[in-house]
Amino acid sequence: MKTKKPIGKRGASALLVASTLLWTSCAAERTNIPLRPGVLVPRTRAPSHSPSLLNGEHTFVLVAIDGVRHEDVFEGVDPNLAKKHGLAARELLTARALTPNLHALMARGAALGAPGSGAGIFASGPNFVSVPGYMELMTGRRTTGCTTNGCAATTHPTLADDFAKLPDVSPLEIGVISSWDGIGRAAARDPSRATVSVGRHQGQTRDLLRYDAEASALLDAGEQAGPSPGYGDYRRDRDTAAIALRYLKKVKPRFLFLGLGDTDEHAHHDDYRGYLRALGHADYVVGQVQAALGEFEREGRRTTLMITTDHGRERDFDGHGGHAPESAEVWLVAAGWGIARQDRVESRSTRYLADVTATLRVLAGVGVVEPSSTALAELMEPAELRLSQVR
Ligand SMILES: [Zn+2]
Repeated sequence: MKTKKPIGKRGASALLVASTLLWTSCAAERTNIPLRPGVLVPRTRAPSHSPSLLNGEHTFVLVAIDGVRHEDVFEGVDPNLAKKHGLAARELLTARALTPNLHALMARGAALGAPGSGAGIFASGPNFVSVPGYMELMTGRRTTGCTTNGCAATTHPTLADDFAKLPDVSPLEIGVISSWDGIGRAAARDPSRATVSVGRHQGQTRDLLRYDAEASALLDAGEQAGPSPGYGDYRRDRDTAAIALRYLKKVKPRFLFLGLGDTDEHAHHDDYRGYLRALGHADYVVGQVQAALGEFEREGRRTTLMITTDHGRERDFDGHGGHAPESAEVWLVAAGWGIARQDRVESRSTRYLADVTATLRVLAGVGVVEPSSTALAELMEPAELRLSQVR
């Protein structure tokens, strides 16, 4: 988030697709967060899916971990950055040790954006900062008119707006919960139809998260904690995660967007160790999300989980933005209903954050796929592709 330097946060009824089908796969709350939080995602096959039409028994979760480099996700701790930042040898974790839950999800689903594999997946920019990235991810438009973190709230429908139009859905069943308040501008064109809690105090419908006494206490705890490692109204990830995880388990929403941001905050402080710890914690949260979704699946509910980031980082690590084209590179991990099991995927065509949105719209049968985007057919199971073509 931030804007230090010239960068950062401060600074069809699911129509389809089909055009470019590229079947090119190669394929707790913690105060002292350890670098090795442990794998929580079982390394088992996700339940097989029957290609019947969607009903209300499906939960889609989209997690964004702010400003995380694809190198760290796929290759582990960077030895050059580790040396520069004085990390000990024991801190040089492999990718699987750094983010075990993301890698377990890759093994039972699919991943895009590994360095040197395929054409890559990118934020469209041209300024690779957070609000434009979240605006692209939530609206599915590669051009949104938002080019800085100070842009106005979206006038285009977002995923939250799309899910809110499903029949018999209440605002409580559509969640946008994030650490950084800036995400509020990309959350929904009509935030009154969703549950939006962004930052410690922002989000006009945030009080819907006081659905019981324990949930209310979690919201209060997030308010009372200071903004560190962010600033202003920032809510630290562990509070955001506690609120979102309980909401997920209790409400079983149709759609949840969870925005974690401590990674980017530590990076702007040029603190690679802090960034890695925040990434390890985010991975732990992803494992908790998948554990909840696994419980839903055992109850017969369908689930789809995607994890991505809003932008990468510049070569010097601490910043990102239009001045650093390398910070356009992002990544995606997806698993669950509709996603074929194939681990790393090498796309022949360049992919974008907007394509993640298009994929969710196609799988859920909500909204309209923006003409500037393409659903990621290379990630999807053939049955879901066929189904999406007839919607
Ligand atoms: Zn930033």
